[in-house]
Amino acid sequence: MFNKKMVSDLDVKGKKVIVRVDFNVPIKNGKINDDTRITAALPTINYLLDHGAAVILMSHLGRPKSKEDLQFSLQPVADHLASLISAPVKFAADCRGEVAKQAAASLKPGEVLVLENTRFYPEETKNDAQMSKDLASLADIFVNDAFGSAHRAHSSTTGIADYLPSAAGFLMEKEIQYLGNAIADPVRPFVAILGGAKISDKIGVIENLLKTADKILIGGGMANTFLKAQGYELADSLVEDEVLETAGDLLSRSEGKILLPVDLTLGDKFDADAEMTHIPVGNVPAGWRVLDIGPLTVQLFDEVIGSAGTVVWNGPMGVFEFPKFAKGTFDLAKSVANSKAISIIGGGDSVSAINQSGLSDKITHISTGGGASLEMLEGLELPGLAALDDK
Ligand code: AMP
Repeated sequence: MFNKKMVSDLDVKGKKVIVRVDFNVPIKNGKINDDTRITAALPTINYLLDHGAAVILMSHLGRPKSKEDLQFSLQPVADHLASLISAPVKFAADCRGEVAKQAAASLKPGEVLVLENTRFYPEETKNDAQMSKDLASLADIFVNDAFGSAHRAHSSTTGIADYLPSAAGFLMEKEIQYLGNAIADPVRPFVAILGGAKISDKIGVIENLLKTADKILIGGGMANTFLKAQGYELADSLVEDEVLETAGDLLSRSEGKILLPVDLTLGDKFDADAEMTHIPVGNVPAGWRVLDIGPLTVQLFDEVIGSAGTVVWNGPMGVFEFPKFAKGTFDLAKSVANSKAISIIGGGDSVSAINQSGLSDKITHISTGGGASLEMLEGLELPGLAALDDK
């Protein structure tokens, strides 16, 4: 099903290859807290180096307002990359203009150049043609390995492909194959688990899953809106009143596929130290709010996951940042890890929960792209993939 040209289909010897990677990693005080996205790009980077290419890497990092926002500089990422590979890693303090041009021109085969944050230019997210051309002018070939940014039509992910021969990297291929197969031809029963704060961002996903999945387990804040649509009082809980009607409509069309929490964990304030109590699903008493799924729901979801053929999970079951309200999410992580199903986890919070549980090696595929994997679940085309040359 993967019909795009691959980096391994190209002759890269002696060529300059510009690779869009997703180096949008969490950095605090110049220290990288999780380098999963960097290590995930190494197979493509090392392949290119081993085959005689000069490798230029570009990425965005966070949402800088201007070039002066140096907390969003990719310099720490370049330094970290240098500790992971044996090739020399250079850094250009700009991704366009003379600095970038000269650094790219003097780059030799077997060397790596990391360009500064592409989002230091507002043109990047506008998919500006001149920005795309400037980036393309630095190299002979474009490779996109940034699955995590493939749902964005930006200059460095999409526009640049208009000006260079292009191909997908190994991470892009792996992500698309795991998720693509799970959606197009899942081992059944296919169970999707959705959580997180809001349903408004996931309505399209639920619509599509109603066609493809056998069961959709819903927890987290997004379950609240469904419960309110069923007529329950939610007191101080997070509820999206503006999509109540949509939630009711999805439920009425779900033919029993959507499973909501059967019990709830409440807190008396939005705080790590809140008082905690459990109730069966029903009206939430005044002064309380839903902050996690309850133990009976954990049991119910565990049974469904235990008999699944494929499980795809995106989004926490509660406010897992507060340890008191993290149990639903961490218990769910255990269920997914213990199940014999093909398991795919996407989304920063769910991935972080599985990593914190030490269970990541029991998961078939951990995606580096939360937003991109959701768009695939929604059945949408990823512009960063579509722009690449076909096989
Ligand atoms: P999202 O970015 O939509 O995946 O949402 C993730 C966030 O949802 C996390 O920061 C959680 O704390 C939050 N969340 C999960 N469950 C609840 C809940 N019941 N009430 C409020 N926030 C929640």
